[in-house]
Amino acid sequence: MSFDVLGGEELEIRELVRRLAQERIAPRAAEIDGSHEFPWDVVELFREHGLFGLYFPEHYGGLGTSTLLGLIAIEEVSKVCATSGLVLAVQELGSLPIKLAGSEEQKQRFLPPLASGEVLAAYALSEAGSGSDSAAMRTTARREGDAYVLDGSKRFITNAGVAGSYVVFAKTDPEAGHEGVSAFVVEPDSPGFEVTRLEPKMGIAGSTTGELAFDGCRVPAGNLIGEEGEGFRIAMRTLDRSRPGIAAQALGIAQGATDYALDYARHRETFGKPIATHQLIAAKLADMETECEAARGLLYRFARMVDAGVSGPELTKASAMAKLKCGDVAMAVTTEAVQILGGYGYIKEYPVERYMRDAKITQIYEGTQEVQRLVIAREMVRAAATVSA
Ligand SMILES: Cc1cc2nc3c(=O)[nH]c(=O)nc-3n(C[C@H](O)[C@H](O)[C@H](O)COP(=O)(O)OP(=O)(O)OC[C@H]3O[C@@H](n4cnc5c(N)ncnc54)[C@H](O)[C@@H]3O)c2cc1C
Repeated sequence: MSFDVLGGEELEIRELVRRLAQERIAPRAAEIDGSHEFPWDVVELFREHGLFGLYFPEHYGGLGTSTLLGLIAIEEVSKVCATSGLVLAVQELGSLPIKLAGSEEQKQRFLPPLASGEVLAAYALSEAGSGSDSAAMRTTARREGDAYVLDGSKRFITNAGVAGSYVVFAKTDPEAGHEGVSAFVVEPDSPGFEVTRLEPKMGIAGSTTGELAFDGCRVPAGNLIGEEGEGFRIAMRTLDRSRPGIAAQALGIAQGATDYALDYARHRETFGKPIATHQLIAAKLADMETECEAARGLLYRFARMVDAGVSGPELTKASAMAKLKCGDVAMAVTTEAVQILGGYGYIKEYPVERYMRDAKITQIYEGTQEVQRLVIAREMVRAAATVSA
């Protein structure tokens, strides 16, 4: 009897993605990491097999499948290549503001090319001086006739230079704190828009991370998402839903490293026997597998909540818990995987050092682990206050 929590269609799609990942993406992973080149061939593979559509409703050109399946696809791809897993996760991150708060006309206009992967998405919230404290952003947008004019810059934006659709957050009322933030779809051919720098990084090397400059950048007024002043709420609602994509990436990295370390430990012999049978190594393997499974439990629980229509503070907390657990597990497990391989873990001929470098970012972006803990504690206090009131 199988205790797999997945149902028939979910298992089929997982098998398809797993096969594509292992046969087509795994052989490219070291090269993507070494060359630092954006993996357009992987994008093409996702397009061919409709994987960008997993998260999108059918009437906007998607497959209309569950949140769980979207996350499973990211997990499976990240088991072999975290850069490629991120391509799927960021497609959802950069599309969610439109899905959650766009008008019907905007959804019809922007979502189908995102669902097919013809256009790649980006989400531009962070700035040089405002990451965790994103409401401290300085980019502004002022209305001029039938357009908004954006001035300022964004830093650390994933898919910079490859995206065809950037959701950009800017202040339409700089005096109003987070109530003054608005959200816009900016297309890269907008006058006054430029990608001014790409960052060399520790990990996820094939993913572009760049700086965007807006110098009197004119955006049609019809590209404002929601109302003026709603941008910060849209940004936060988006992150509630998108963070688990990073959790799925982290879980994939962790499971990929665990599987590799297990295989290695079964075949590497010291003192006349496989290292997997030395108790100290066996204990590491047991802890790694257990931690992955615990992280998966939180992640899939979040997905089931979304698919059941749960929203609000309960979902915010579940999302933060999934991101926190999966990111911390990825870092801990990949460090142990390097240890299990000994000297071979430290050299580039073996993939576990890449897994360890890739894991670190999952503790930083889409809200650091410190921010996740603050969010979880805030929701705990809020819920306790409601019960005792
Ligand atoms: C590779 C990469 C890709 C990225 N992609 C995107 C993207 O696509 N779009 C986007 O908008 N951003 C993106 N980011 C930005 C990322 O989300 C931020 O770097 C992150 O939110 C942290 O912000 P910061 O770097 O300004 O650190 P800071 O906010 O300056 O934080 C520094 C440290 O202080 C801690 N800290 C901050 N405030 C508190 C507090 N109140 N209590 C306790 N500790 C605190 C933080 O946890 C951290 O450890 C990306 C970053 C990287 C490196």
